[in-house]
Amino acid sequence: MTTFFKVKNPANGSLVQEVQINTEEEIKQALKNGHESFKSWSKVNAHERARLLKSWSQKIQENKEEIAVLMTKENGKPLHESLGEVDYATSYIDWYAEEARRIYGRTIPASSETKRIIVSRQPIGLVAAITPWNFPAAMMTRKAAPALAAGCTFIVKPAEETPLTTMKLIELAHEAGIPKDAIQYVNGDGKEVGELFTGSDYVRKITFTGSTPVGKSLIKNSADTVKHVTMELGGHAPLIVCEDADLDFAVQQTIASKFRNAGQTCVCANRLIVHESILDTFSAKLVEEVRKLKVGNGLDKETKIGPIINEKGFNKIMLQIDDAMVKGAEVLIGNQYDADKDQGYFFVYPTVLKNVTPSMKIMQEETFGPVAPVVSFKELDEAVEIANSTPYGLAAYFFTNDYRTGTYLSEHLDFGIVGWNDGAPSGAHVPFGGMKESGLGREGGLEGIEPYLETKYLSIGNL
Ligand code: ADP
Repeated sequence: MTTFFKVKNPANGSLVQEVQINTEEEIKQALKNGHESFKSWSKVNAHERARLLKSWSQKIQENKEEIAVLMTKENGKPLHESLGEVDYATSYIDWYAEEARRIYGRTIPASSETKRIIVSRQPIGLVAAITPWNFPAAMMTRKAAPALAAGCTFIVKPAEETPLTTMKLIELAHEAGIPKDAIQYVNGDGKEVGELFTGSDYVRKITFTGSTPVGKSLIKNSADTVKHVTMELGGHAPLIVCEDADLDFAVQQTIASKFRNAGQTCVCANRLIVHESILDTFSAKLVEEVRKLKVGNGLDKETKIGPIINEKGFNKIMLQIDDAMVKGAEVLIGNQYDADKDQGYFFVYPTVLKNVTPSMKIMQEETFGPVAPVVSFKELDEAVEIANSTPYGLAAYFFTNDYRTGTYLSEHLDFGIVGWNDGAPSGAHVPFGGMKESGLGREGGLEGIEPYLETKYLSIGNL
């Protein structure tokens, strides 16, 4: 029996499209096909793989508007952000199309005249990806592009909330000439598909972007067949503003970092840690800018803050705000919402909280919403202590024009991505990933293709 799930517009709860759920047999067949396809795709020469990837990127750009509208409908993000994400997504394909031609090996001087040593790099096999709803295009392409560039085949299960963008992009990959079984998608429940992926002997690598608890279970389930894993998990980014910082610039960058995608990214600033001498001025400037952020349907041109993805996300944000209020936080702006459970939409107005303390949930957990808690610090060590006191280690930001302060902070913050006077450090050309419970491995840059390659050492003797 064919079953479907409904993709709904989080801005108003309306149906966008019904999507077929794949059966266990279909998913197992797709994995087998991906495995079979590896035999031929891995033999396609690197220049041809690069050409096909470039052609895919071009097809996506030709359909940019349509993809962006679809993304806004299923995810809710403002249209200008969706358009930006299409560019961001294709930048990974372009980057790894280039890298496909630079998968170099090396030779090693042998310990005997009769031997030669060659080290080469080989694709690892079929890669299975599980992606989240917050970047429906880019989280997929930054896995698929390096996988295909390396010569791996690829299968993805997109988030149930936002499968349509992924499906469209993969159709375009096929139109561009990438073989049907070299890049595939399947749809279904995360846990069920995840277990089919991790349980399959065909899959040599799991790559995941999502929550830390799900990442941990995927790592555990990958152990039985010793699969490679790349994990991009939760974040709890600190943003430190030092007393000498350019405040207008810091505020502008804080807005960009905190409120993008309505605060629903794993690198969003989650804790604003501000020097006590500038606390009031910074907060006042921040509130003025937050006041300008229009909340609404992402398809309206004016919208800067779209809806929260679903009720679960909304409840988590509300719980964090309530907990902070009970424990003494004060609202500088926001703490309003427009939500209708029956209709199925949940908007949270951008919120700034002061008098926040470390005991509050909002200082301990990822928020994934447009809420900025502000705490103050006196000494730099105190700021570092607050920033590092989390099991997460994805992104951290700080603002200072003093090179000693900046050097100290950059060396003492335990995070994989550090922005010094930069609230938006991501890009296809740089390594993205976290320390501690924020993940394993890196995506993007030179590092991003490594997880898709095996090293083979060949020793030739008796020469
Ligand atoms: P969120 O709570 O923000 O949706 P998740 O980590 O639950 O974050 O979801 C990210 C992706 O992981 C989605 O594609 C989802 O379907 C999938 N997923 C959810 N639970 C599991 C699981 N137990 N095993 C594998 N994938 C899962």
